[in-house]
Amino acid sequence: MSPKKTRVLTITVHNNVSTKFASVMHKSLHKCQWRKPTGHVRFLSSQQDSSFRVCVVGSGPAGFYTAQSLLKNNPNVTVDILEKLPVPFGLVRYGVAPDHPEVKNVVNQFTNLAQSGRCNFLGNINIGTDVTVKELLNGYSAVVLAYGAASDRRLDIPGEDSEGVISARNFVGWYNGLPQDSELKPNLNTDTAVVIGQGNVALDVARILLTPIEILQKTDISENAISALRRSKVKQVYLVGRRGPLEVSFTIKELREMVKLPGTKPILDRSDFEGIDKLIPGLPRGRKRLIELLYKTALQSSNSQDERLETSQAAWGLKFLRSPLEIIQDQVDQQVKGVRFAVNTLQSQDGQTTAVPTGEEEFMECGLVLKSVGYKSIRLDPIVPFDHMKGIIRNTKGKVDGIQGLYCSGWVKRGAVGVILSSLNDSIETAKTISEDFTTGHIQHNNEGKDYLMKLLNNRGVKTVTFTDWLNIDEEERQRGQLQSKPREKISDITEMLKIAFRPQHEK
Ligand code: FAD
Repeated sequence: MSPKKTRVLTITVHNNVSTKFASVMHKSLHKCQWRKPTGHVRFLSSQQDSSFRVCVVGSGPAGFYTAQSLLKNNPNVTVDILEKLPVPFGLVRYGVAPDHPEVKNVVNQFTNLAQSGRCNFLGNINIGTDVTVKELLNGYSAVVLAYGAASDRRLDIPGEDSEGVISARNFVGWYNGLPQDSELKPNLNTDTAVVIGQGNVALDVARILLTPIEILQKTDISENAISALRRSKVKQVYLVGRRGPLEVSFTIKELREMVKLPGTKPILDRSDFEGIDKLIPGLPRGRKRLIELLYKTALQSSNSQDERLETSQAAWGLKFLRSPLEIIQDQVDQQVKGVRFAVNTLQSQDGQTTAVPTGEEEFMECGLVLKSVGYKSIRLDPIVPFDHMKGIIRNTKGKVDGIQGLYCSGWVKRGAVGVILSSLNDSIETAKTISEDFTTGHIQHNNEGKDYLMKLLNNRGVKTVTFTDWLNIDEEERQRGQLQSKPREKISDITEMLKIAFRPQHEK
């Protein structure tokens, strides 16, 4: 569709008389708006309004960064950020580990944006259930899908769905107070846990399992989790990967934290590192430092003179060249008994290193299995073109293939990998694509936006949470945290969240 032509009546404002005249004109012209950009009054019929109302679905880093970039570069844009939960910030609140408070400081920037006047947060709206993407497209100039990754990659092996096998995503949600995971009951009545995967999320869950309670209880970890971890019998956590030490996907910060974790020692097999010292000098800089630390840790762990390593009660280990074949469950009590692994060797071809089974197998005994092989996005509305293999919305530089006015950003755009900063770069790209479409007229002006949406939601009985309402929850969580000498105690029950969000002023 081509953009509507804008006919503009311009009156130069010199004094109060002409301002009054402009005001009279404004009232008398049917459905007109007036704006004052640079000493001029511009009359635009509502159908020819020059403003763009953009709606962003998801209030994680991608949602906020896309809004920020759009608002910065387009003075005529307003943005509504819609969120399924009554609370904002996505994985910054519900993914980032409780003992990484410095990472969460980014919410201060998002809070400033939400209070800037041109950006509205509207929580407690589930897109795909309460309102469809098509309806959003009818009410807004552009819709940006930034709803992250709400599912897991699967191992596709027997026993994967047994009791005692938990996805790292659910475990992370549990210790971070995510409502849907707050009732999780991980089996901590076992001395050994196996984490399948060797990325940063795998290290996060291993660290939370082994960190002394005195440290954890000062963080914003959920009360449910802390009381379960207090009774935990887990003493060893093994992180298992299908390839070798050179292929691990965690980063140096997370490894360093494990190496220094009080009361624990690493268990690494020196034979896994044979010949690696010769390869280290040729590695790219960041990778070189990581593998150096891993190598040094392996040497220390196998000929330890260090008193801490000698006296540690708990341990973490990295097992390489193992692919899970089956999770074995006890036939009587249904508890996990262990994991059967295929032993691999590595083959290199065209610069790619792949794991190939040797035919040998190994059994590792454990009572808890955490799958940490990746988050995955899902399709939230049938009209959205989706690549189910990659778990992403089909798009070109953030523009959704074949649907005018629809864009995407963050993990749902490029796959569930990367840190918060990657979402910033990615969101800048999407915002740039949208801005170009504003300029070239590929996007329709739309002046309904929030009014249109609120009418729909009111008719459907959906109560939305504003940013001010969220601040009530925020305040309550901080107060509850203060009583326990922690930064906050997250409320994990949605009904309770809503009650606090809408609490009348006199009850506060
Ligand atoms: P998300 O943050 O997931 O945001 C998506 C939002 O969309 C959520 O609020 C969700 O509730 C909402 N949503 C979903 N469905 C709907 C719907 N139907 N309707 C409305 N809203 C919906 N990065 C770092 O830089 N440092 C770290 O320490 C770090 N730790 C991490 C730890 C873990 C366990 C994980 C999983 C990730 C971590 N990351 C970290 C990565 C970082 O969290 C991600 O890069 C980033 O959050 C991705 O942003 P996003 O906006 O795409 O998705």
